[in-house]
Amino acid sequence: MSSKSNKNTQLVSSGRKKAYTHGVVNPVVQRASTIVFDTVADLKEAAKTRGDKTLFYGRRGTTTHFALQDAITELEGGEGCALYPCGAAAISQVLLSFLKTGDHILMVDNAYEPTRDFCDKILVGLGISTTYYPPTIGAGIKDYIKPNTKVLFLESPGSITMEVQDVPAMVKVANEHNVMTILDNTYGNGLHYRPLEHGVDISIQAATKYIVGHSDVMMGVAVANKKYWLTLRENSYLLGQCTSADDAYLALRGLRTMGVRLNQHE
Ligand SMILES: *Cc1c(COP(=O)(O)O)cnc(C)c1O
Repeated sequence: MSSKSNKNTQLVSSGRKKAYTHGVVNPVVQRASTIVFDTVADLKEAAKTRGDKTLFYGRRGTTTHFALQDAITELEGGEGCALYPCGAAAISQVLLSFLKTGDHILMVDNAYEPTRDFCDKILVGLGISTTYYPPTIGAGIKDYIKPNTKVLFLESPGSITMEVQDVPAMVKVANEHNVMTILDNTYGNGLHYRPLEHGVDISIQAATKYIVGHSDVMMGVAVANKKYWLTLRENSYLLGQCTSADDAYLALRGLRTMGVRLNQHE
């Protein structure tokens, strides 16, 4: 999507498959825990797909969630999108999905405060160490990488002070050292910045902010590239993350007007 009008067209048309809308304009709000299957064979088949756009169990999402996931995946340009009950949950669960005891994470110094607190108060207790780096370090991030560095976490523009990071230069260094890259794209929102196009592995947003846009829903999203999507999807299920169909519907409704709202913000 190159021009602004194309992006706005994408925002209003994404996630509207007939399977989700049943022929009306917007996806049906499909609330569910248990799913009813016609045969045991159907149930077994659905279990195999692990909820990838097929109904299996409420935690794995319904067609309302699938519509939002499709739209956000298209917005950020990735392989798939996991939904979380808020932005802070998206950040903590993405990190817990990939870090283990003994690992080291590089965290940008101007990260959103709860992200810092999660490193300092939760990860530390799991034996995962954090080093903070200056947001404008660029390729100099090389000097911060240790043998056990697993994740380079970016936030650009960064919370409150708004430094813009040299993402391509940092991703290049990370790739050379086999370090995965995760970026909090809440400010970049997918319209102004698409981290995966610049080599980032996972883009996270507090959808609570620009996507929902009306201060009435908490929601977090994480879009992963092909390399990390299946692990992120599976581990998010295992960590018990889910959102309500009503919240997914409202987030999708917010997304439709994100472009015009951001013009006013500017
Ligand atoms: C608000 C915010 C979060 C956390 O989102 P919640 O939905 O409030 O949990 C994370 N990162 C940034 C940059 C934010 O502004």
